[in-house]
Amino acid sequence: MNAENPDSSAPSTPRLRAALDTFPPYIPGKPPREVTGLRPFKLSSNENFLSPLPEVLDAMVAHAKDPAHYPDDAAVALREELAKRLGVGLDELVVTTGASELLVALTQITSDATTEAIYPWPSFEMYPQTTGLAGSARIEVPLSADGRHDLDAMAEAITDRTTLIILCSPNNPTGPVLRDAELRSFLDRVPDHVLVALDEAYWEFATAPERVRGLELVKDYENLVLLRTFSKAHGLAGLRVGYAVAHPAVISGLLKAVIPFGVTDMSQAAALESLRHWDAVLERAAQIAAARDAFAAALRDQGWDVPEAQANYVWLPLGEKSAAFEDACVEQAVAVRNLGAGVRISIGEDEALARVLEIAERFRAEHFS
Ligand SMILES: *Cc1c(COP(=O)(O)O)cnc(C)c1O
Repeated sequence: MNAENPDSSAPSTPRLRAALDTFPPYIPGKPPREVTGLRPFKLSSNENFLSPLPEVLDAMVAHAKDPAHYPDDAAVALREELAKRLGVGLDELVVTTGASELLVALTQITSDATTEAIYPWPSFEMYPQTTGLAGSARIEVPLSADGRHDLDAMAEAITDRTTLIILCSPNNPTGPVLRDAELRSFLDRVPDHVLVALDEAYWEFATAPERVRGLELVKDYENLVLLRTFSKAHGLAGLRVGYAVAHPAVISGLLKAVIPFGVTDMSQAAALESLRHWDAVLERAAQIAAARDAFAAALRDQGWDVPEAQANYVWLPLGEKSAAFEDACVEQAVAVRNLGAGVRISIGEDEALARVLEIAERFRAEHFS
């Protein structure tokens, strides 16, 4: 290994950037453990549990015949459909390999070792990862006690080094939405040169009447970028398709940072077909939202302090009891997501949610009485 290095005590691993030591790696939700006699459920990654729309599967099969060619790098057909459905221009859209790639690209176009990024915490685990990777200082603003963004504290955290603010509505993992009015007054306080990313990965599930309307906001604020995905409500997490909506200047910047040909032809075709069935997608999202409301209400009836749940998951702020609760679920063949401060439970089949309710009831009796 060190044949050319006379100093044999020198480390033999490559020298990686010091920034890598400033944030933890992304840890995906675990699969459920096998337990004899119990159907396993994965409620740890906020995936859509409904079976895919048959037309979308057909579109995938039809586009599985030409692997030798690169896909349409500009994703024109998909962007045209998005532009039509969302009422925005083609130059206001970019399609990427999930919203995950957008988060990476956004930090690349805004952040380096001289800048600061602000985001709420706890929130999506990729925020520390992508901002940390860029070498940026990370300003994590604690959520309020009810799991909501503290927008006043976030506005106060802005300095002349701030270049990126990330917001998440509904917030993953806690669940509440940003209110349209509060976000407008926040954006009025943000200097125009600071890019604000509104992560709307779960917008289709949100039902609160006062919820933020990203598409209207993005018309009013040129420094706002919406992050959306086909992974959650469209149920296409395995195909990796996301998109951003923003002012053309922001989109041009993103286009320089995204991976060429990232979204495969099959994925573009599936996303396009899913958009053509948007009513069915939104109908399913509403069905999941109704199951979520019933699940959250049942947990509150048991005495749990569940924050406003507006996506396809519910948050239990269990603190140091999080690991014990996760273990209780593992024993019953249910995978949930333990994030340290609490446990996030994705909405799944009735049978899965009924099992979690039983576990939660027993857990309360054992640990809180
Ligand atoms: C799931 C998720 C994403 C991105 O998912 P992709 O599969 O990469 O599109 C982005 N933000 C939040 C908050 C998420 O939960």
